[in-house]
Amino acid sequence: MATPQIDNLNVVPFVSVDNMMKLVLTIGVETVICGIAEQIESDFKRWESFDKTARIASHSKEGVIELMPTSDGEVYGFKYVNGHPKNTKEGLQTVTAFGLLADVDTGYPVLLSEMTILTALRTAAMSAVAAKYLAPKGAKVMAMIGNGAQCEFQALAFKTICGIDTVRLFDIDPVATDKAVLNLQKSGLTVIRTHSHQECVTGADIITTCTADKQYATILTDNMVGSGVHINAIGGDCPGKTELHKDILLRSDVFVEFPPQTRVEGEIQQLDEDHPVTELWKVINGDENGRTSEQQITLFDSVGFAIEDFSALRYLLNAIKGSNFYDELDMIADPDEPRDLFGMVQRAKANL
Ligand code: NAD
Repeated sequence: MATPQIDNLNVVPFVSVDNMMKLVLTIGVETVICGIAEQIESDFKRWESFDKTARIASHSKEGVIELMPTSDGEVYGFKYVNGHPKNTKEGLQTVTAFGLLADVDTGYPVLLSEMTILTALRTAAMSAVAAKYLAPKGAKVMAMIGNGAQCEFQALAFKTICGIDTVRLFDIDPVATDKAVLNLQKSGLTVIRTHSHQECVTGADIITTCTADKQYATILTDNMVGSGVHINAIGGDCPGKTELHKDILLRSDVFVEFPPQTRVEGEIQQLDEDHPVTELWKVINGDENGRTSEQQITLFDSVGFAIEDFSALRYLLNAIKGSNFYDELDMIADPDEPRDLFGMVQRAKANL
């Protein structure tokens, strides 16, 4: 696959938060999510052409900082991302991110971007792609537990890709739910505010758990999950950070991104190392079954994998071509004679 290039190799297109917002508003949130979802599906279909490695995580008492690299042999990408559940109390985001694409042939970067917004878009796109294959047919109602930064993106992705028409919201912090109710007012979804985890999941075809807490939490207990439901579990994405009671996992068919990463970070860290799971890319390319019966409980044990970020960055690189939604960063030294780096520095004295 050819590397999408923006003309001058010595300047790197940079998408700031400001430009990302302008781009998303110009194209439309739902259209962007659909575009990223298409790119994810097409990249998952060629899963075997990627270098894959579990992300490199640096854990601390309060959070984690992770690097997520991958390459398809022509384009290399990585994301830097953190996860600090205590941050919102200090007025900071739980998750922030930025990422880069580079041309494998030269090693030169071809895109640098903010990825806090892009991660929310790609996580929503990924969740909805998984649900396309796993959710019960005709699913209309989604329960959304955890109404933080990811919440509205998730709701819109499930509306536009999976056809839900109702979202039931719950968060232990009512202020988060107030915000989500307001933001989803004109979304075309029926938005129902609920007052407990149990009330939230009542009547839902799809349950999304998207909470942030650095502990083995029990957002869902076994009795809350009826047969036929699809669970989209996003918030359990670190060692020691889960959302579902173990018994739910034992009743579900579990679908994952990259098993070596999910077994350490996902809900299935609670299970034996050899507990059977299905890799989602095999479902997408038709090698394995997704949902096979109406009674089946399907669980997408989402942790977020590097190929999804690669897909999102590739979508972005195409989207900014011919637009004003990026700046050019002077990030690559460009001496007239490639080996005369020192001379280039010396000659710059004249311009001081
Ligand atoms: P956030 O901090 O903005 O929101 C989390 C919300 O969860 C908060 O409003 C909080 O009040 C609520 N919450 C905490 N405990 C709860 C409980 N017991 N019941 C109900 N609500 C509860 O975080 P965010 O950016 O929305 O991210 C949510 C989670 O998703 C984080 O854990 C993050 O690490 C994870 N995440 C996963 C992926 C992925 O690809 N799987 C991608 C992005 C974020």
